[in-house]
Amino acid sequence: MESLKFHRILLKLSGEALSGDSGNGIDPHRARDIALRVKEVREMGVDVAIVIGAGNLWRGRVGLELGMDRATADYMGMLATVMNALALMDSLEGLGVWTRVQSAIEMRSVAEPYIRRRAIRHLEKGRVVIFGGGTGNPYFSTDTAAALRAMEIGADVLIKATKVDGVYDCDPKKNPNAVKFDELTYIETLNRRLEVMDSTAISLCMENKLPIMVLNLWDNSALRKALTGEPVGTLVHP
Ligand code: UDP
Repeated sequence: MESLKFHRILLKLSGEALSGDSGNGIDPHRARDIALRVKEVREMGVDVAIVIGAGNLWRGRVGLELGMDRATADYMGMLATVMNALALMDSLEGLGVWTRVQSAIEMRSVAEPYIRRRAIRHLEKGRVVIFGGGTGNPYFSTDTAAALRAMEIGADVLIKATKVDGVYDCDPKKNPNAVKFDELTYIETLNRRLEVMDSTAISLCMENKLPIMVLNLWDNSALRKALTGEPVGTLVHP
């Protein structure tokens, strides 16, 4: 077995990772692509927990713009994350990877309720645990849920898997001179308002010294490199 830098990870996926090119809805082919990547990581002997967002289905902000009550719109977003969690569960199990979905909002017929010690037990048994329902609270994001759950389960790193290969000083799609950071401190990330994760999530990681790794989910070797300690993406740390 390869020597591992990280033994337990919290993988944060945005909802958009599950959608096709439109950015909306759930594309089962995409879900399978993600599942294949997660399977590979599991086969390296790494404990994997996942927090998935819901930007492909609903964002609280959209409801707010339409005149909805913020909390209601946010609860809709949290419910949508459970749909994504089930889609991912389905793809993983289709590949023979055992999973458990735990939801921060109780819905016992489709997911286990979130119970920290139980989640850890699942990880110890080699199951991939998918956390749905965000933090269970409006006014938060799934990035914050990822930071929170990472801490709770004793993850060694929070891996934010995106469409981009790391954090840049400006948008690399709009500016060809954008510079990628190999490493950043939490404070630099916050002060420069770099789009790593929202400030609540970064602050939580900073206070608890949890490293954040930002990498491209669709780069076939990125996750493997991150786990074996090869340089890849951007590492945000103390
Ligand atoms: N949300 C929330 N509390 C949480 C997590 C999520 O209220 O703890 C809501 C919020 O409205 C958010 C939506 O769920 O817009 C979807 O999550 P997010 O925007 O983080 O998804 P992503 O951008 O990662 O796809």
